[in-house]
Amino acid sequence: MKVYADNAATTAISEAALDTMNECLRDLYGNPSSVHGVGQEAARRLEGARSSVAALLGAEPREIYFTSGGTEADNWAIRAGALLGAQKNKKHIISSRFEHHAVLHTLRLWEKQGFEITLLDVHSDGLVRPEELAAAIRDDTALVSVIYANNEIGTIQPVEEIGGICRERGVLFHTDAVQAVGHLPIDVHAQFIDMLSLSAHKFHGPKGVGAFYCRKGIPLAVFMEGGAQERGKRAGTENVPSIIGMAEALKESCAHMREDNKKVEAMRDKLTAALTRIPRSRLNGHPDLRLPGIANFCFSGIEGEGLLLLLDQNGICASSGSACTSGSLDPSHVLLAIGIPHEEAHGSLRLSLSALNTPEEVDHIISVLPGIIEKLRGMSPVWQRLEQGAK
Ligand SMILES: *Cc1c(COP(=O)(O)O)cnc(C)c1O
Repeated sequence: MKVYADNAATTAISEAALDTMNECLRDLYGNPSSVHGVGQEAARRLEGARSSVAALLGAEPREIYFTSGGTEADNWAIRAGALLGAQKNKKHIISSRFEHHAVLHTLRLWEKQGFEITLLDVHSDGLVRPEELAAAIRDDTALVSVIYANNEIGTIQPVEEIGGICRERGVLFHTDAVQAVGHLPIDVHAQFIDMLSLSAHKFHGPKGVGAFYCRKGIPLAVFMEGGAQERGKRAGTENVPSIIGMAEALKESCAHMREDNKKVEAMRDKLTAALTRIPRSRLNGHPDLRLPGIANFCFSGIEGEGLLLLLDQNGICASSGSACTSGSLDPSHVLLAIGIPHEEAHGSLRLSLSALNTPEEVDHIISVLPGIIEKLRGMSPVWQRLEQGAK
């Protein structure tokens, strides 16, 4: 049995998105910037996709800019916030310790440009505290960027409260909502969100395409020079088939959100109940304030890499953290941020489900995982020391 349980890294493309894209790749080849009919047909469909994405976020079409994905939208948001701040001599940015690297590494870049960065602590429940944000805001704070739902542990941040504080204090608020869009109801205006990043391949759309929402009235910095596309802010011929595929996938995800979440949550809860019965195991992050699909565990005395290999041999695709950090031997910055000790952070496992998973697949994971952990612990000197310590 093959079980794909790595939906936080990427999802399978939906049939509807694939069909639409096929049709666009074949027939809708015009350049939306062309004045002739073939080009204008592409432009019409492109703007239809923009309206559709905007409506599903509670935004206006002119507030949506298409990008190459979540990483680009994150880079753009921070760049926009930093450049606007610099004009007013505000060079302080607040974010959190457990952001995606697309945010953290971009912040490092702006730090080298003379910005001061404050990273909010994340508590052991995987949440930042709004009151700590309020206390960190200064007169020279240009931007706050807090992830909507964490991609490794799935915890959902108090976004509306954070947005409210920022709006009241006159500070721009960006959220990396890549894991949330298509999975949680979002309304950018009701939640006081000024800028938001999303990515199609996290909700069964194609890879290499995403969107950046920037509230109207905010003077948005140009991201790419060279043409009038995307209101002159992001030049380059639009990725028309992918953008239309993304809009289709988002429409579908939002239409089925409630029923899909119910199904996915039930599977995740069964998995969590079974895996936390393994001795010296734990679920990381808040038990309830989390995405329906993501569950992250620590198993003392083992290495995540070995665990992933043995799971793969049993047909189970999972991850030990984020896809972006795998390949490095450093433990996850997210787990360290919520206070998991180094040794334990090495033994982490992220299982991320989607509505395409089945209860039988979950049963398969539950049937093989405890044996794999026992086997790895049997070979682990760390585990032997832990056991001796316990006696
Ligand atoms: C996947 C992901 C990204 C990166 O999105 P890409 O489209 O792959 O560039 C950024 N932030 C979060 C939270 C993610 O999960």
